Amino acid sequence: MKWRRHKFTFMVIPDEANKQVVRFQLSGATLLSTLILLVVLAVTAAASMVMYGKRANEVGRLQQELASSTGQYEKIISDKDRHIGDLQTEVAGLSDQAKKIQNKMADIHKLESQLKKIAGIPNAGSASGTKASADNQDAYAMDGEGTGGEELPVTDEEIDGLLLQTTRDFSDIAGMIDEMKPRLEQTKDAVLNMQNRLRVTPTIWPADSRKITSPFGVRRDPFTHRARFHAGLDISGDIGDPIYAAADGMVTHTGYDGSHGNNVMILHGNGIATHYSHLSKILVKPGTKVRKGDLIAEMGSTGRSTGPHLHYEVYVGGKQVDPQPYLQNSREDIRP
Ligand SMILES: [Zn+2]
Repeated sequence: MKWRRHKFTFMVIPDEANKQVVRFQLSGATLLSTLILLVVLAVTAAASMVMYGKRANEVGRLQQELASSTGQYEKIISDKDRHIGDLQTEVAGLSDQAKKIQNKMADIHKLESQLKKIAGIPNAGSASGTKASADNQDAYAMDGEGTGGEELPVTDEEIDGLLLQTTRDFSDIAGMIDEMKPRLEQTKDAVLNMQNRLRVTPTIWPADSRKITSPFGVRRDPFTHRARFHAGLDISGDIGDPIYAAADGMVTHTGYDGSHGNNVMILHGNGIATHYSHLSKILVKPGTKVRKGDLIAEMGSTGRSTGPHLHYEVYVGGKQVDPQPYLQNSREDIRP
């Protein structure tokens, strides 16, 4: 490596003629070191530039990310706010619904009381039911059609209060339903019992005619003109007029005798029976099950009779009673 020991002379010649020429000598080794130093410097500078560029990119990307996630968070927050607003509206709606359900429960309670009254069941009267109807008057007042005035945003405390009240209202409702259900079952059973009793109790007129020609009781006998006890009720009409079963029951006797003419006996249960006499035609047989209002015979004037009429008797506990109180309804009332 000889050239390292060589010396190299550099001359700097200025433009102006009067200036001195500067000359300097450098050994080969120094020249090499200087060159290496310059190269290292250049490489370091280039690397720094690249690094800086990368950093700048990174920072830009992070800034973008931050901006986008800030936007996302803002959206989430605004969605949450809207969601909370919706929930508040829902709570208000639920509270309204609770009030309406309470009103309806009070209506049902009233209906049940009326039903009990009709069925003749004593009304126990529940405290909660009465309380609910009292509360409902307020609910109705608030529920009026004419509302208005200043609308203010609700506070969290108000919503919390409403939520608590609504929760209580719904739990009250659940309690009322729990309490009402067995009571309604009892009422239903009682009404069904009453219906069954009513079905086997003679309550309808056994003929279409409403003309009573002879009541139940002591009267002058039309044949002997002597005072006799009339054990039934005479309803006059025309031969062939339909005769109806006064209640559900079973035919226990059909036949003819000189006194009653063609006659039918129906047993209704509970010790009650009805007896139809002077018929022109019998349409049932012993053992026939009949429903209240069924056609069982036709009016006539057979037996000890002065003209076409139905002699109608009601037996209670084996004894004839006045049929008049049993003539409450028309056949049309039970068969519209
Ligand atoms: Zn008679």
